[in-house]
Amino acid sequence: MRFFIKSYGCQMNSYDSQRMSDAFIAAGGEAVSKPEEADVVVLNTCSIRDKVDEKVFSDLGRLKIIKDEKSPNDFIIIVAGCMAQLRSKDILKRAPYVDAILGPQNIGQISEVATDIAKNKALDAIVSISSDAREKFLQPASASNRSVSEFLTIQEGCDNFCAYCIVPYTRGREFSRSVADIVAEAKNLVAAGAKEITLLGQNVNSYRGEGLNGGKSNLANLLYELANVAGLKRLRYLTSNPKDVNERIAEAHRDIEILAPFLHLPAQSGSDGILKKMNRKYSNSEYLEKIEMLREHRPDIAFSSDFIVGFPGETDEDFQQTLKLAEKVRYAQAYSFKYSPRPGTPAARMDDQISESVKSERLRILQDLLNNQQTEFNENFVGRSLKVLLVKSGKHKNQLTGRSEYSQAVSVCANNISIGDIAEVKITENASHSLIGVIEP
Ligand code: SF4
Repeated sequence: MRFFIKSYGCQMNSYDSQRMSDAFIAAGGEAVSKPEEADVVVLNTCSIRDKVDEKVFSDLGRLKIIKDEKSPNDFIIIVAGCMAQLRSKDILKRAPYVDAILGPQNIGQISEVATDIAKNKALDAIVSISSDAREKFLQPASASNRSVSEFLTIQEGCDNFCAYCIVPYTRGREFSRSVADIVAEAKNLVAAGAKEITLLGQNVNSYRGEGLNGGKSNLANLLYELANVAGLKRLRYLTSNPKDVNERIAEAHRDIEILAPFLHLPAQSGSDGILKKMNRKYSNSEYLEKIEMLREHRPDIAFSSDFIVGFPGETDEDFQQTLKLAEKVRYAQAYSFKYSPRPGTPAARMDDQISESVKSERLRILQDLLNNQQTEFNENFVGRSLKVLLVKSGKHKNQLTGRSEYSQAVSVCANNISIGDIAEVKITENASHSLIGVIEP
């Protein structure tokens, strides 16, 4: 079966799409680069914002045109992921030509479902949306021809119910895979060419998988375990919740050489009042204490963050607190968004929603500050060296591009280096989209 998978949204969806591709290939399938060349098309959807949902519906409209030109079971359309979990009825109402709907925890069935439809075994659209993540990881991930930088999901779902977030409703309760499972998959990925692994979880630092000697493990223990995987050159993890950062994790950053000194730690807001309304379970000062503790254990560590402006009830004073927090931490990079109400979340039902114009103005001010901090952070490396994992070829002859330990994009020209190497690069320029450097002799 020729398959085409389109992935929307976060890294966890990219990982899930890779798992679906593995399942199709294990069943003798072949990946194609265009939907019109495929027998089955999978849209692996995200549901973080309205705009994304509408994009899926317009893509479905385009697929309908292809389907109408072929006989129905010769072109199978499957919608998977968070939007499928949340809006299965809506999707089938607006796009009745969709053949199957699979929630994020049901993607393990992808190949079997596609085969059933192709064999006419399914008269109505198949809908499979459970919230039990266990099922998904029953199939071991087969790792063939992987890139030098790979994702590995260790934990699914979330029990935090932040007031603006849809994830607990789409990915269900927290489930952590066993240490044995994760280490086995990591070894497979390294054997298949990966040099860097990024561990994924909606709330990765609340990882509580079964340990190698039974009992509950945690993220720090897992990091120490993975540090022993031969051939693994770099380790990262995301997304952390500040409330679950602890001393053991800080010690892991001090002790584990391959653990990147770069941590994504979403603050969301600098105002205690807004953090409370968001149900984030930490205060501004607690967040800053965690940053301080991590810096004590690993002085060269740097941070990125997520911020939401215009959360219901946010005053000018609250917003000033967010700016102050960013000024205190000085981020290497950060993502910031205008609050966008998600139907079904508590925040969407809150009074005192903020006007679009106020949100836009606050976003402009915050992004100016964060962009200046990022420029300053990158400028600081001109004349200094960075360890860069070379990931792919660049536009120019002998040019390779890669990522530094701070996840900065770096490009370098040399003929004695290859993709997969970690090269010592002396930075010569902070260009608009990436740092430029030369190989240290
Ligand atoms: S911790 Fe993250 S994934 Fe969980 S509810 Fe909060 S924002 Fe959503």
